[in-house]
Amino acid sequence: MLTLKCPYCGVQADETELHAGGEAHLTRHGPGSSDADFESYLFMRENPKGVHFERWRHVNGCGKWFHAARCTMTLEVFGTYPAQTSEPPKKIRDAITAKRPGWTWRELS
Ligand SMILES: [Zn+2]
Repeated sequence: MLTLKCPYCGVQADETELHAGGEAHLTRHGPGSSDADFESYLFMRENPKGVHFERWRHVNGCGKWFHAARCTMTLEVFGTYPAQTSEPPKKIRDAITAKRPGWTWRELS
């Protein structure tokens, strides 16, 4: 079972206490954007086999949204952090690189 530590209240919660919110760090496109950018925002997701960044809500706890970095193959969790960030903290990126040599964080567009 997947367990994640809520970065706000510090509770180690299993997935029954949480609600998944999809991929984290999406570039949002709204009114005035091109059709291709808006289509990409609505429909295109990474769906990797490996390291993935996701949004989660501690729905049966403090109720706040946070981000988690984990491996989709092994369920290994590299860390969680507040949702109000535009990219993963360096500490989490370093933890991933230590276990997955060659992995790099994508540049935000
Ligand atoms: Zn919480």
